[in-house]
Amino acid sequence: MDGRTSSRLKGMCAIVTGAGRGIGRSISLALAREGAHLILAARTEGELDVVRQEIEDGGGRTVMFPADLSREPEAVALVKFAIDYAGRLDILVNNAGLGIFGPLVDCATEDWDQIMAVNARGPYVLCREAIPHLRLREISYIVNVGSVVSEKGYQDQAAYSASKHALLGMSKAMAKEVQDENIRVHAVCPGGVATDLVARARPDLDAALLMEPEEIADIVLFLVTRRGNAVIDEIFVRRSASTPWA
Ligand code: NAP
Repeated sequence: MDGRTSSRLKGMCAIVTGAGRGIGRSISLALAREGAHLILAARTEGELDVVRQEIEDGGGRTVMFPADLSREPEAVALVKFAIDYAGRLDILVNNAGLGIFGPLVDCATEDWDQIMAVNARGPYVLCREAIPHLRLREISYIVNVGSVVSEKGYQDQAAYSASKHALLGMSKAMAKEVQDENIRVHAVCPGGVATDLVARARPDLDAALLMEPEEIADIVLFLVTRRGNAVIDEIFVRRSASTPWA
């Protein structure tokens, strides 16, 4: 963290999944800078610990919860841990994601299942467990990190595209179910962002033309600091070098 702090999320508790690197790390730092208490979740404890240290060095409050969120008991335990730690939950960011890329005919059933388990089933379990706590707040937020392939289909990304379509579909239906409880459900659907995942998915993309994780974190922060009557359901974010309105 760069030491800049503000307080738009002061006292609020946020779970960020996939918080150890890439987009999730940047989202965690951005929410912590605004005063949120962060629960950092991912499998790799060493990466989470670096982010935890960055937040604490900047004066933020955070705790980490190493977990494989493709496993239901661990996802259930994450929400329980957040409530035990902070006594409340205001923001759930479903950011953890897995991509295994290649032609559909070469996709092993185990890989398909694992992608769906991380990208779609994990967020479902977390939302299901979190909503009873989120509905206790005056206003609360679920942000699901989709992708451009939540709406499109890219070659060699069939399983990944299916999982991100599923996540967006769940978001649309769930948003209606919880609207009256003042839980706002947002989908943020980026194109290429400079992370480990995109380096594997799209080695053809010029790294200099990718978005930075901090740019996606800015958008998530924008969404979870809205308090008025204007609500944006989905934000579709493209690289400046990509085709507008494509
Ligand atoms: P990344 O750098 O590979 O980070 C992925 C994060 O998810 C890591 O912290 C990883 O931690 C965590 N994760 C993966 N499997 C997990 C599991 N089973 N349980 C818990 N955590 C798990 O990728 P990223 O680009 O930042 O991706 C973040 C999100 O943005 C993903 O949902 C991705 O689909 C989406 N997205 C990325 C791009 C892009 O261009 N980069 C574009 C659109 C959407 P561990 O491996 O330690 O568990």
